[in-house]
Amino acid sequence: MTSALSIINPATEQPVASVEMYDLEEANRAIDRAQKASPAWRAVTPGDRARLLRQFSETVDQHLEELAQLEVANSGHTIANARWEAGNVRDVLAYYAGAPERHSGRQIPVAGGVDFTFYEPLGVVGIIAPWNFPMPIAGWGLGPALAAGNTVVLKPATLTPLTAMRLAELALEAGFPEHVFQVLPGDGASVGYRFVTHEAVRKVCFTGSNAAGRKIMAGCAEQVKRVTLELGGKSANIIFADADLERAAASAPYAVFDNAGQDCCARSRILVEASAYDRFMELFEPAVKAVRVLNPADESSEMGPLITAAQRESVATYVEEGNVAFRGSAPDGAGYWFAPTVLETPDRSSRAFTEEIFGPIVSVARFADEADAVDIANDSPYGLSGSIWTRDVGRALRVARGIDTGALSVNSNSSVRYSTPFGGFKQSGIGRELGPDALLGFSEEKNVFIATED
Ligand code: NAD
Repeated sequence: MTSALSIINPATEQPVASVEMYDLEEANRAIDRAQKASPAWRAVTPGDRARLLRQFSETVDQHLEELAQLEVANSGHTIANARWEAGNVRDVLAYYAGAPERHSGRQIPVAGGVDFTFYEPLGVVGIIAPWNFPMPIAGWGLGPALAAGNTVVLKPATLTPLTAMRLAELALEAGFPEHVFQVLPGDGASVGYRFVTHEAVRKVCFTGSNAAGRKIMAGCAEQVKRVTLELGGKSANIIFADADLERAAASAPYAVFDNAGQDCCARSRILVEASAYDRFMELFEPAVKAVRVLNPADESSEMGPLITAAQRESVATYVEEGNVAFRGSAPDGAGYWFAPTVLETPDRSSRAFTEEIFGPIVSVARFADEADAVDIANDSPYGLSGSIWTRDVGRALRVARGIDTGALSVNSNSSVRYSTPFGGFKQSGIGRELGPDALLGFSEEKNVFIATED
């Protein structure tokens, strides 16, 4: 039996849709359908699989504005961000449309015969997505998994199923065979965890919290199931005194307050070389106060609300403990609004400095020298992203190599490009998504030896 869940717009607190949530039985039926669709899908020629992915990409492009508006209403993302996110799905599908015809094995020199490797699809892949980036994270799993010849079941976050459900419809419209890509709105512990326990699902791609990630990894061990984990972060934005401080300060608010801080890559610790600290704070304050926290549907909005009232309560607990330096503004009235907040954090063991807040709060601290900056940045169980601002190329490279994190940028805060690998060190996750090698994570390598001697 399925049950309906009301989907709430976080900017207005008004219902936007009612969605039938799958239960365990419906999840079982969907996984069975994905398994049955698998042999025919893996038999589709590489050229035809590529063509279908290109058509899917084009169909997403034709519906880009509709998808973006849906995300604004469901998730409170700013319209500018939501357009980027729908465009990212389009681009990821287009990028991996080039993959089926290039996913070649090797011929390895051996004695007594010839030896080939083949990349075989895994079968059914289960993707479990979080609420903070429903579209991109669906696409990052979907594109390479389908390109490698797998069928996909995707469970969106309970709060944010609308764009994923629309993407499944668009795949059919683009000509995908039925049941090759299905979306199962439902609860994590039942429908999501069924991907872990169902024998037909051969890989789980999970993006979400560390607590759920640990359970999923442990569960996957029971069947020696492949698993990719993209988990939390507490990334550092390291600013040296020789940096272009104006640029570093002007872009630092967007490196942490984008998506209202609900971003695993948020640079939520700003580390500033002591000699530049006062100047940086002088420049940073007006930049924070200038962030336009507005109705996300407004074309000029730069930050929307948090996802739920509960998230806002959780975020607020960090302010009580911190030393507030200054804050930006946020609308009053309906919506889960929270003003951008800057904490000066001399206590590096405080919750605000060590835990992932997942809201628009940043902690700023001083460091003494290069070694100190690397030590502070690495003093975290996480290691997902980070930035380094300096004009000294040698230092930029030394620090980049010294930080235990998966996606770093120098004199920039951008972490994600579909053509480069993305993923975390330490407890930020296991495995990589995107980039030229993503299909390897969705394939088994098979070795075949053919004897040529009589
Ligand atoms: P969450 O762990 O609560 O939920 C994520 C997804 O997992 C949801 O679809 C949920 O329904 C499902 N789920 C929950 N418990 C489950 C279980 N026991 N078995 C199977 N599925 C289960 O996380 P969230 O609150 O939606 O997302 C926020 C978290 O995601 C943050 O920690 C953030 O850093 C992380 N995140 C990481 C990345 C990355 O790429 N590293 C990207 C985005 C978000």
